[in-house]
Amino acid sequence: DEVILQVKDLKTYFHVDEGIVKAVDGVTFDLRQGETLGLVGESGSGKSVTNLSIMNLVPFPPGRIAGGEVLYRGQDLLKMTPNQIRDIRGNKISMIFQDPMTSLNPFLKISTQMVETLVLHQGLSKAAARDKAIEMLKLAGIPAAEKRIDNYPHQFSGGMRQRVMIAMALSCNPDILIADEPTSALDVTIQAQILDLIRDLTARLGTAVIMITHSLGVVAGLCDTICVMYAGRIVERGPVDEIFAHPRHPYTQGLIKSVPRLDKFTNERLQSIQGQPPNVIDLPDCCPFYPRCDKAMDICKQKYPASTSFDNGCAASCWLYSREAR
Ligand code: SF4
Ligand code: MG
Repeated sequence: DEVILQVKDLKTYFHVDEGIVKAVDGVTFDLRQGETLGLVGESGSGKSVTNLSIMNLVPFPPGRIAGGEVLYRGQDLLKMTPNQIRDIRGNKISMIFQDPMTSLNPFLKISTQMVETLVLHQGLSKAAARDKAIEMLKLAGIPAAEKRIDNYPHQFSGGMRQRVMIAMALSCNPDILIADEPTSALDVTIQAQILDLIRDLTARLGTAVIMITHSLGVVAGLCDTICVMYAGRIVERGPVDEIFAHPRHPYTQGLIKSVPRLDKFTNERLQSIQGQPPNVIDLPDCCPFYPRCDKAMDICKQKYPASTSFDNGCAASCWLYSREAR
């Protein structure tokens, strides 16, 4: 399928008193039409900042996009004017978050918010927009959508609010849905339902998804492709089944070993591997995983390893595989 989003050598740095935090440091990936890609890592690995950078929403100061490109159908989102990017956001690329109240205005009825978006982005009449909004709420599993559309956000339960947010995010039929830990605040049963909904609805609408998560269970149940992030970089990537069957990077191996069951959605935190996540301030040009890696060699402390590709479609950045001279 066609590549619709290309993130190329993206660098997002935060300038703090203690130095420079390279929150995202050379992230590159492609997203294809209809693909579901999982960006997985511990908190602080740079996955959420990658998301904010794609949408040009990095708070400045202290954040700054220090380099790279984010090409949406060939156009660099990082070079767009605020007006141009507003036209893309919510229309071509939508986002959902852990807390639906970051997307929903508490003071407006759901109908007002959805109709406004549809009139603005899709040029529908108010009546047509309302019909479309009701249809989306139904697809998202909101019972009595014709009535509930005139409720305020606080009149919905947490899980239902998440469904409303998803309906709203998909109402303009975007090419891409970026979901940042959309279910980690919910209890496990509701979580599974919401993930099922995201999977079914995006498959039906042909929406590509970037799923940002700390949970390998979420990735296993939902994604086609996985990018494992560590200290601002993608350290391993590939088709999800191949990564689970043949993890090559010691960090990925540790993550997979730490998850007891991958055949159902779980909300396991990726914290059971030994050692602490790196302090990303003024990180030297080494493999940032070496303090936690039981296979570390001298070279690992001296130079960041280039990415090595394997014939099952996977690639890993690790000196165990790098063909570069050591
Ligand atoms: Fe471990 Fe070295 Fe590979 Fe880093 S490059 S993951 S330290 S073996
Ligand atoms: Mg996050």
